[in-house]
Amino acid sequence: MRPFTSTIALEEARRRLNAAIRPITRIERVPLDEAAGRVAAADVTSAIDVPPFARSAMDGYALIAADSAAATRSTPAQLRLLDRIYTGQMSTVTIARGTCAEIATGAPLPAGADAVIMVEETARNADGNTVDIFAPASAGQHIGRRGADIAGGDRVVAAGDRLSPSRVGAIAAIGQADAAVFARPRVAILSTGNEVVEPGRALAPGQIFDVNRFTLGAIVSAHGGVPEPHHAAQDTVAALVAALDACTTADLIVFSGGSSVGERDLVVDAIAARGEMIFHGIAVRPGKPTAFATIGPDATPFFGMPGNPTSCLSNAYILLVPFLRALARLPPHTPRTVRAPLGSRIASAVNRHQFYTVRLRDGVALPAFKGSGDITSLSQADGYIEIPADQSVVEQGASVLVTLF
Ligand code: AMP
Ligand code: MG
Repeated sequence: MRPFTSTIALEEARRRLNAAIRPITRIERVPLDEAAGRVAAADVTSAIDVPPFARSAMDGYALIAADSAAATRSTPAQLRLLDRIYTGQMSTVTIARGTCAEIATGAPLPAGADAVIMVEETARNADGNTVDIFAPASAGQHIGRRGADIAGGDRVVAAGDRLSPSRVGAIAAIGQADAAVFARPRVAILSTGNEVVEPGRALAPGQIFDVNRFTLGAIVSAHGGVPEPHHAAQDTVAALVAALDACTTADLIVFSGGSSVGERDLVVDAIAARGEMIFHGIAVRPGKPTAFATIGPDATPFFGMPGNPTSCLSNAYILLVPFLRALARLPPHTPRTVRAPLGSRIASAVNRHQFYTVRLRDGVALPAFKGSGDITSLSQADGYIEIPADQSVVEQGASVLVTLF
């Protein structure tokens, strides 16, 4: 047994993590179908005007506004119909005084016209060749002018922008089929422990199913990374060093288990063989036995998460998510919070910043934390409250801020 000689405060752990962030520099091109959620690696500038032609914004008639200046329902202006213009087709006519053309929404405005009047304010005469206009149109009315949306030379997306659905749409509007984006960080995920078995297989006595590989993989996918799952490693220094060596192409390595102080907790020795420890032990609960290191000649960042599933996942939310998003150049995650009265008293560990899971029922926050080893401490909770290191009790009825998962 090698007890923790000391732990560092959560804020200090965050400071050291921030200092180790090296945002991804690899760039790739992805088809627009796959671009949503990615981070633009370069400005995207339009070579064209959008729309590329002046177009009607309504179904109606293209006309010269001055022809309708005195029009009313009882004294309509009567215009001669020259053409019917559908979308995707250029009209060859020129609208002159006293004439008009039927036009569909999105169809190109014919030459000479300076306004569109909507069909509801018109009536086609029985002869089929003339149209009554019942209201005055103003010049420019219901016309989308060329380049009104995007002008040639406009920047539609800036480097570093997250490609939301609407930004993907802006790139499509200018006719680009793909986008240059930053690569998603590759995150090697590996569980350690002689007892850990892949779900779907049979458990031998003394074994448990691997939880952490899947919770970590889900978190990594949700926050801009590509999880690269590895087979669980046995509890020997040699196995862990070999496991580290198998992860060297990753941008980030996340192990779970073996980070504590039991005699088989050998992650510390493996780090000593291959890298440099940045911290080991944080004054948080759950999740105290968490290590952070850099590995190999590239100083690949390494998280050594606790094996207990709730400790592992809690620290994944609190420490891994912000780190991964910064690597991926994504904006910080801002979970929703709600205020609620606490349903029953919570005693908190002294000198450890506690993340305590709660369930929300009828507007009340009910304690949901069972134990660090119980995944249901999280899976049956809606969020967590934070209890600072210097606070030992939160009384029933106190107003607490719940951060929702
Ligand atoms: P460790 O951090 O390796 O000392 O493990 C602490 C506890 O978490 C032990 O009860 C382990 O069996 C359990 N554990 C470790 N890794 C996992 C895992 N990947 N999935 C589920 N439980 C685990
Ligand atoms: Mg273990």
